[in-house]
Amino acid sequence: MSTKSLPHFWFEPRPWIDGQWQTGGETVTVHNPATGAKIADVTRADAAAVRRAIEGAVKAQRAWREASAVERGNVLKRTAALLLARKDEFARLLTAEQGKPYAQAVGEIEYAASFFQWFGEEARRVYGRIAAHPEAGREYFVEHRAAGVAGLITPWNFPIAQGAKKVAASLAAGCSAVWKPAELTPLIALAVGPVMAEAGLPAGVLQIVPGRGSVVGGVLAEHPAVRVLSLTGSTATGSTLMAAGAPGIKRVSLELGGNAPFIVLPDADLDFTTEQLIRLKLFVSGQVCVTANRVFVHADIESALTEKLAAKLNAAHVGNGLEDGMDAGPLIHRQACTEVGAVVDQAVAQGARIVAQNRSYESDDTLRAGTFFPPTLLTCVRDEMKVARDEIFGPVIPLLRYTRVSEAVRRANETPHGLAAYVYGRDLAQCHAVARGIEAGIVGVNEWRPLKAEIPFGGIKQSGIGVEGGEEGIREFLEIQVISMPKPLIQDS
Ligand code: NAD
Repeated sequence: MSTKSLPHFWFEPRPWIDGQWQTGGETVTVHNPATGAKIADVTRADAAAVRRAIEGAVKAQRAWREASAVERGNVLKRTAALLLARKDEFARLLTAEQGKPYAQAVGEIEYAASFFQWFGEEARRVYGRIAAHPEAGREYFVEHRAAGVAGLITPWNFPIAQGAKKVAASLAAGCSAVWKPAELTPLIALAVGPVMAEAGLPAGVLQIVPGRGSVVGGVLAEHPAVRVLSLTGSTATGSTLMAAGAPGIKRVSLELGGNAPFIVLPDADLDFTTEQLIRLKLFVSGQVCVTANRVFVHADIESALTEKLAAKLNAAHVGNGLEDGMDAGPLIHRQACTEVGAVVDQAVAQGARIVAQNRSYESDDTLRAGTFFPPTLLTCVRDEMKVARDEIFGPVIPLLRYTRVSEAVRRANETPHGLAAYVYGRDLAQCHAVARGIEAGIVGVNEWRPLKAEIPFGGIKQSGIGVEGGEEGIREFLEIQVISMPKPLIQDS
């Protein structure tokens, strides 16, 4: 079995401000979560550096918003092409830093590129309108214009894709942006800076400032020039950021935590459902906001589905994502393993049963310092258990039995979250009715990953405000100005 290596860095592990790498300041070490090996010491931006970044972004935005939409779009589309051309290097870096298997990392680079491509095209499709004024001799114009500087804050689970969604949409709109990647995965974000410069992005339009959430987030929330705060992260951080931005009446766009129900209807194709559910749960080792968190299974098919899931889970390859053929990698850090272990233990103490647990990574001595959690299948889970109430963020499949479809829908909605949901069944009319009954921003029917650049995605309830992707995504970074004026008349001179 061959192990891929870390690529040579084409960037420096420091803040990227006005097209320059910044020196000096506190550093933090980034490790490979599969092996514990050190990857790099990364310089964090302090509050003064973040202010400099915002001020540089203000200056750069003037010319950027005046550039034609076609020019802005071309920079984004060239970025997409460069990412795709270099996807192997980007994917190796992403796997080393985040832990996900190489094939999933390649998928994330392609997904990130698709947002640069999509918003590169959408930049030229921002339409205002001129409409009939109720008073004679007047008319009004509804114009959309860039909101200003956008503060973009992203998590560690999709550290380039979540950034790409925000960077591409905000820059397409004519905003400039200050991007704060997660503390644990700053390298893949910094790697984007020089690539966008190569694509023709003027210095200062995108500033990349790794650093502490409260420090960088605090400056972004307070600074008057930042007009939009766009966060992907936990619901708790969303609430903190919203409150911090409130005195300055900042617009917020929040993509937050989920607790997705996965409803298996009695007529579901069990082989297909098994294959899809295992893929969904092993994807990034379950550290995904839209992963299935509660699997509702009809009592009639519970034992057959459990058997198939256990067999498939036991056959998966869990290990170092830089090795070929891995289905799942480690969790992001030791604390994550402890937390996932605690909810599983608590569920077992309350009557849940572990029917499968895949510890295949234990045979590899090079992974002793890695932060792995065994993919686990739990049956006899009840709604009130923490494993069903909270977002697990690990490769745990909790099965919850139901007997009536209406009961499954009611229980699926008994959560303050409303991000994603899944419905599996053969009768599409029934699937559609169930999907409509679920309170979630996106529902995949017989589809484990319905997220695409073309499709608007955002949560409801405590899962967020606003959307990313689709034709709607760019609007998060546009504001409306109305100009109401007399209709000009032809002057005969
Ligand atoms: P997190 O909320 O801890 O961190 C997210 C980002 O916010 C990081 O960059 C962090 O440094 C920053 N941050 C932390 N405190 C801050 C503060 N006070 N002010 C400003 N920024 C601050 O989340 P995480 O652990 O990195 O990611 C996991 C969470 O993200 C999960 O809840 C997951 O569901 C959610 N998530 C949601 C989506 C979505 O699209 N809805 C996608 C991915 C992840």
